[in-house]
Amino acid sequence: MRSQDYMDLEYNYGAHNYKPIPVVIDRAERVWVWDVEGKRYLDMLSSYSALNHGHRHPKIIEALERQLQKVTLTSRAFYNSVLGLFEEKLAKFAGYEKVLPMNTGAEAVESALKIARKWAYYKRNIPMNEGNIIALEGNFHGRTITIISFSTEHQYKDGFGPYTPGFKIAPFGDARALENLIDDRTLAILVEPIQGEGGVRVPPQGYLAELRRIATKHRILLMFDEIQTGLGRTGKMFAWQWEDAKPDVLILGKALGGGIYPVSAVLANNDVMDVLTPGDHGSTFGGNPLAAAVGMAAIDVLVEEKLDERARTLGEYFMNQLKHIKSDYVKEIRGKGLLIGIEIKKEFGTARPFCEKLAQMGILCKETHEQVIRFAPPLVIEKEEIDWALERIERVLTEP
Ligand code: PLP
Repeated sequence: MRSQDYMDLEYNYGAHNYKPIPVVIDRAERVWVWDVEGKRYLDMLSSYSALNHGHRHPKIIEALERQLQKVTLTSRAFYNSVLGLFEEKLAKFAGYEKVLPMNTGAEAVESALKIARKWAYYKRNIPMNEGNIIALEGNFHGRTITIISFSTEHQYKDGFGPYTPGFKIAPFGDARALENLIDDRTLAILVEPIQGEGGVRVPPQGYLAELRRIATKHRILLMFDEIQTGLGRTGKMFAWQWEDAKPDVLILGKALGGGIYPVSAVLANNDVMDVLTPGDHGSTFGGNPLAAAVGMAAIDVLVEEKLDERARTLGEYFMNQLKHIKSDYVKEIRGKGLLIGIEIKKEFGTARPFCEKLAQMGILCKETHEQVIRFAPPLVIEKEEIDWALERIERVLTEP
């Protein structure tokens, strides 16, 4: 079968909820992928930051294979001999007392919202079922009904109502405006330290620390969704570390599964996590032994290979070189570490044709929010590979 045959199959038998770049990936290793015809591409999207460790990292594969030979699924009806070790490792690594293991990002966000609400009703005495949570304009936290209920993106919401109440929207990057929205029923703020899907939007310097101050002052929970920014991506293990703005609730996903398996988690201290009691919440697959084994290996690799430092130094280099490209098409280049967005001026159309051209030249990336080309390569990428990409990016940004 050829690439076109596989695309036709997906079109004929799959729901049309995606419009992929027309490349059919057949195999992958580290930062490279190959299509069905054997053409090689540099992966500069990393499955939206889920592949921080690169494709098929040998240590993570080894951990998976070892666990496959023992036990893969137990459900939480019983204990298993890996979950506690994973929870301890993740809790200590991220600096929290407790971990709630889940599978996907959206599930972890939903879980965090439930924890925050229960905390407010039982520990803050906010009237039952009347609390509100502040999210930001331009947010992306997943695709469930509750999460899209506070999306500000029409396409994510239209046709999917009725929506879940209890959310307010603050303008992006304006801490004072957010504080003005707080009332006596506000229980939490939910924020991405950098909005990834929203177009790689970086808030002003000091914003996260200001949110920390506001949350403490009003006794509300600061919750950071670091599903995309966490685990080294921005040049720190967690993006909150750029401003010393440690959240009360940290939400992780994507790269926690080492690019191999869906693993997500909510982290908090006892005072918050203790509101969950047996039967309150759960997941058949959350915390399964395979996920736990993979999650532990993913953390080990992040630390051993200093992937945060790599993202910082290589990200600075990549950003500087991109800024040297003289292009009429580019409105702005922004980002942190190896999460970088190039915004294309509207007069030149959307970012999509630029991504398609890059794919033809052997670079995989994807437009986000119409105008932005997002580059988020695996953090194991080498400088020479960034140079290889830069040559091609320069051609695409300068050719007519
Ligand atoms: N939160 C953020 C910040 C994300 O970037 C994403 C996915 O792109 C999600 C949540 C949802 O994660 P998932 O697709 O695993 O449900």
